[in-house]
Amino acid sequence: QAKLDGKNRFHSYDLSWEQSAQELREQLHEIRQALHAGELVLYYQPKVNMVTGTIVGAEALLRWLKPSGELVPPLRFLPVLQDHPLEIEVGDWVIREALRQMDQWQSEGLHLQVSVNVSGQQLLEDTFADKLRSALEDFPEVAPSALQLEVLESSALQDMGKVSRTMQTCRQLGVSFALDDFGTGFSSLVYLKHLPASVLKIDQGFVRGMLRNTDDLPIIAGVVSMAHAFGLQVIAEGVETVPHGELLLKLGCEQAQGYGIARPMPAGDLPEWVATWPGEIAWKGIVPVDSH
Ligand code: C2E
Ligand code: MG
Ligand code: MG
Ligand code: MG
Repeated sequence: QAKLDGKNRFHSYDLSWEQSAQELREQLHEIRQALHAGELVLYYQPKVNMVTGTIVGAEALLRWLKPSGELVPPLRFLPVLQDHPLEIEVGDWVIREALRQMDQWQSEGLHLQVSVNVSGQQLLEDTFADKLRSALEDFPEVAPSALQLEVLESSALQDMGKVSRTMQTCRQLGVSFALDDFGTGFSSLVYLKHLPASVLKIDQGFVRGMLRNTDDLPIIAGVVSMAHAFGLQVIAEGVETVPHGELLLKLGCEQAQGYGIARPMPAGDLPEWVATWPGEIAWKGIVPVDSH
């Protein structure tokens, strides 16, 4: 009996493995086609300073706009690409597309800092900085300092030395870095010390739970003052409501990104959003406790 079970289980395991390998191949094929057919698009979400009301920039976020009109969020297809060469191809496209868009906005008189997410695989690629240099050279009107790259702590896990050197090379090109989803990874202090970033993004998990879970408050306050001590700017993600913004200000965090300010939008909508942004927000005027 036991033998039979074992055999059956092995058989079904084998089958599902084949199925999922086949599915993976099909998904990769579809995503590759989407890239080449121009179905991948970037949406942009503004980032603002809650004290001054200034627009700090916008984050470019990948979407798959299917011909049916369906808009597929990145976490529904990016994981399929993990550790596959196609992830590099998509990542290269994202950087170039963001630069192209910045170039176009600039020619329309809109100067905006744009941040782009890069994967660990991209950062670990030997040619990353060279490709970035040549992309920047192809858009000479765009200042490299207008481009920021967002990296996850986990990207550096595999080879901190290499990632840190690549970041340094990119910084010499004029590009800056943000540490994304900060607080969700591991030894945060070590990353702050070794990775040449200029911005730290507090993960939206902390921000979301902040009003209910007061345990998170000292963590946020600690991260903010630690980041400032390291000379980094801090931005909170997932700022959905005014109370979130108010509390963040009290905790010393001045920059915010979230549905409470604006949802990610198509590139074509951003100039209008910028033009109608009042330059101040509901909670403007509240002086942060840890102001400097
Ligand atoms: P992320 O870089 O941390 O981006 C922030 C995510 O939070 C975005 O989700 C954004 O739409 C969402 N968000 C912003 N404000 C709020 C809010 O107030 N409430 C809630 N609930 N969510 C908010 P999105 O666009 O689905 O992207 C998810 C993740 O996919 C990104 O997280 C990033 O890690 C990854 N990603 C997106 N585009 C790219 C890309 O071009 N390359 C790479 N490698 N990763 C990307
Ligand atoms: Mg990001
Ligand atoms: Mg994030
Ligand atoms: Mg995230």
